[in-house]
Formats: sequence, structure tokens, C-alpha cells
Amino acid sequence: MRTALEPWRAESIGLVPTMGALHAGHLSLIAAARAECSTVVMSLFVNPAQFGSSGDLNGYPRDEANDLAVAAEAGVDFVFAPDASEMYPTRFQTWVEVAELGAVLEGAHRPGHFRGVATICLKLFNIVRPDVVYFGQKDAQQVAVLRQLIADLALELELRALPTVRDRDGLALSSRNVRLSPPERTLALTLPRALATRDPESARSLLVEAGLDVDYVEIAPFDPPVLAAAVRVGSTRLIDNVTLEEDS
Ligand code: AMP
Repeated sequence: MRTALEPWRAESIGLVPTMGALHAGHLSLIAAARAECSTVVMSLFVNPAQFGSSGDLNGYPRDEANDLAVAAEAGVDFVFAPDASEMYPTRFQTWVEVAELGAVLEGAHRPGHFRGVATICLKLFNIVRPDVVYFGQKDAQQVAVLRQLIADLALELELRALPTVRDRDGLALSSRNVRLSPPERTLALTLPRALATRDPESARSLLVEAGLDVDYVEIAPFDPPVLAAAVRVGSTRLIDNVTLEEDS
């Protein structure tokens, strides 16, 4: 990866980290990178370290051949798609922990998740050495955790967060949506509707009345603050958030 990028370092390099199963949310990040950087790198790596259960990891949708075609069509110059054994060789033992931001909300329900995210992102940043990295506001806590990592460890790169891309019915696009049955998908629509109230109590009532299993629905003091929620629809766990006005 380093050798391939060497000729392009004089101008800006943008990195879009993904776990593949590309959808329009990923494409909006690639489009921003394409518009703002000379060279666009997309990483494609289903990071075992950020999954709690092997069931979720093994069941994660994968379609590398299609992802490569979609990425090329979207104008990605390089795809970095390492094996898990390359990123985590035997005796790998160094981890990055964003102590406070990584422990609340998603972090409280998925212990070790943000340790996995922070570690793999720092490793990807070190390998690619991008000027700008692109992330989705869909994962608002991931953005907050990574901004903290970048500041705390004095990384020389800029993080750009792009708005959540939604289906026409309001459901935030997610690689996990393919796992929803038609009735589950209808039920899942309660999530964006509940968040649209922008009120944690009203949102919780709507989610509980619909029969959804709520992990949390809380105002998160990120920049900007968001109303964030995680619910389970059948065996699929969905997260979403809406940005709140600064003064609300
Ligand atoms: P993933 O492949 O799910 O790890 O996501 C890769 C990147 O795409 C992350 O920065 C996500 O926040 C972002 N992303 C995922 N879904 C969406 C969406 N619906 N809208 C915008 N960005 C998204």
C-alpha cells in the first residue's frame, strides 16, 4: 500500500475506511473524498476486533467482488483489502483505548467495540497516511471517538463527517439491513420515526410501544449533540441518531 501510494504523496490522499457490503452511505463518503482529494483510497476490512460475538462477525454481509466493482465505478483509486492475519498477526498485542468516550452508549453495550475500532483505524491511518479521512455521522460515537484519538495522539490528518444517508422510507442505510425480513423492516422504521421526535422520553415510548428491544435512547454530548439509539429487531441490532440543535 505504501509503495503504491508513494508517487501520489505530493498531492492530497483521502481515505474512506469501510467493512464492505457497499451502499449509498459509503458512496457519499467516496464522493466527498473524490471531490476533495487527488487520490482516493478505500479500505475494505471486516475488523474482527470490533465484533463482540463470532455469530455477528461470521454473519456480516460480504461481497468483495461486487464491492471492488462499485468502488472502481465510484472513482476509488486504490482499495486496501488486507486479510485479518495481516492486520492481526500472531502475537499482536497493542491496543488503543479512548477511555471515556469509548465506554458509554455503544461502548457500554458492546464492550471492546471501540477499542477494536480505534486500534484498526490508527493502524489504517499509519499504513495509508492520508491527509483526510471520511466517516459517516450514522456512527456518531465512532466519529467522536476518532476525533478524540486524533487530538490525543496528535495525528496529522483531518476527519470529515458526512450526513447519514437514508432510504426513501427514512431507514438509515446499513449493511446489516439486508438481514431484515419484510415485517422486521417495517418494524425498524419506528427507529427513525422515534428519533425524529428529538426527545428521549417520547422516542423511548414509541420504540417500546412498537415492541422493539431498546438498548439505549439517549442524548449524547458529542459535537454536535445527537439523540442516539440502538435497538434490536429480531436478531439484527440497528443504531441511528439525529443531530440536535446546539441550544436544545
Ligand atoms: P461500515 O462499512 O458500516 O463500517 O461503514 C463505513 C463508513 O460508512 C463509516 O464511516 C460509517 O459511518 C459510514 N456509513 C455507514 N452507513 C452510513 C449511512 N447510512 N450514511 C452515511 N454514512 C454511513
